[in-house]
Amino acid sequence: MIPDEDGALFKQLSNGWVPYSILVGPDGKVILWESEFNETGFSAAVEKLYEEPEAPGEVEPAPRAAPRRAGRTWGANILILGGGAGGLVAAYHLRKKLPKGHRIILLDREPNHLFQSSLLWRAVGLRSAGQIQRPLSDLAKKGIEFINEPAVQIDTASKVVRTPSQEVDYDFLIVALGAELAPEEVMGFEEMALNLYDLEGTAKIHAALNEFSGGKVGVLVTDIPFKCPAAPYEAALLVDSFLRKKGVRDRSEVHIFTPEHQPMPVAGPAMGDAITKVLSKRSIQYHPLFTFEWISPGDHTIASSTGEPEQVDLLLAVPPHRAPEVVSYSGLLGSSGWIHVDPHTLATENEGVYAIGDVNNIRLANGKNLPMAGVFAHYEAKVAAERIVAEIEGDQPGASFNGKGFCWLELGAGKAGFAAGNFYAEPEPAVRMYPPTRPAHWGKVAFEKWWLRHWF
Ligand SMILES: Cc1cc2nc3c(=O)[nH]c(=O)nc-3n(C[C@H](O)[C@H](O)[C@H](O)COP(=O)(O)OP(=O)(O)OC[C@H]3O[C@@H](n4cnc5c(N)ncnc54)[C@H](O)[C@@H]3O)c2cc1C
Repeated sequence: MIPDEDGALFKQLSNGWVPYSILVGPDGKVILWESEFNETGFSAAVEKLYEEPEAPGEVEPAPRAAPRRAGRTWGANILILGGGAGGLVAAYHLRKKLPKGHRIILLDREPNHLFQSSLLWRAVGLRSAGQIQRPLSDLAKKGIEFINEPAVQIDTASKVVRTPSQEVDYDFLIVALGAELAPEEVMGFEEMALNLYDLEGTAKIHAALNEFSGGKVGVLVTDIPFKCPAAPYEAALLVDSFLRKKGVRDRSEVHIFTPEHQPMPVAGPAMGDAITKVLSKRSIQYHPLFTFEWISPGDHTIASSTGEPEQVDLLLAVPPHRAPEVVSYSGLLGSSGWIHVDPHTLATENEGVYAIGDVNNIRLANGKNLPMAGVFAHYEAKVAAERIVAEIEGDQPGASFNGKGFCWLELGAGKAGFAAGNFYAEPEPAVRMYPPTRPAHWGKVAFEKWWLRHWF
């Protein structure tokens, strides 16, 4: 028996699993066997070892020690589906707070985590693909197991997730699969539109803007909901800046077509006014209530259910969003087409299953939905992780999501606005937009750098 009070030997010699404390008596019999280390039970058993030997036949086996805490003493499997904003944060917090005997497994079909906010900078040539991604396999350094495979079935009855090559059991499941982009739902998208929301599309946008010598650029929102309600507006402002710098803005028009009645409707009319003022100052033409119907590559037009078709030379589009297919067949979807969760705990109706980020649906006091945004995925992830930790440790889960969030509105030319508020406020979210400044732009840049370093 080697004393190892501070666990230094365990850390050096173990393979990362929870130690089993096994105490063998002088007669070779195991008198104590338990996972982890229970000081009270272990000391009592050791004391017993030094007691005077009793007459043969009268030795009582040491009682199995009572657990140190009321929680589970076995190692739990916590499976996180999706290594995007929410999944990454959840994995990090779980690993930080739980002993190594509990497995934290993160599964993603992509090899890399993508910091999606920076796609807009990529569209105007300010970032390369490598600058805004990190390999998820790097998480192994932190003790997070990574499986680079698609989830093809979520079986909540058997508590198992299936991939093409394996079954992964879980005790707790966090679904953080985001929103799936579905450009194929729009006829003509492939032929005429460039996808503003993915790596490939934004590379093509940059190439097209480089070639652009004047004409009409359209930023089109094909459907709602879509992630980051500010992104199409930021895209139009960044395009405006790019064209000014290139010296072709006076030969160009920049338009936004969206089914919304105002920018960021969930944040209220004041926010909408603030953004429309910025757009008009930069001569960006805004077409709200453009209930998109079709793209016609033949004559380069887009059409809404009302009004005349609009001709555009360069079309940057936000494709329709839907819940990932694997979620659709899991029985987890609610009537909204997304996963319904408790707005404070992020728990679903299925035991041990949480859903965070874009894949869930949270209805606000004003009847609108909480926007799909990384900031909410981030905070929700922390809450779900803390509640799982509490449950494992036998404590009363106390963490609660409060609906608070913030975002930067990138305006181009080194300036950004900043908005922050409480989306759970009643009867309406209380969100405030601060005037554009240079420091706000640098705040956004610093946040990107922090994000890509901190979790990896
Ligand atoms: C252009 C753009 C700009 C944005 N700007 C901002 C911003 O400024 N501020 C902000 O707060 N938010 C912003 N967002 C939104 C933000 O990026 C998302 O809301 C956030 O990433 C959602 O996090 P998530 O974890 O729910 O999903 P995601 O981050 O989308 O992660 C989902 C993960 O699940 C994986 N996945 C999906 N299906 C499967 C499957 N079947 N099997 C295995 N893996 C799967 C995906 O590969 C992905 O890695 C922006 C988004 C875009 C596109």
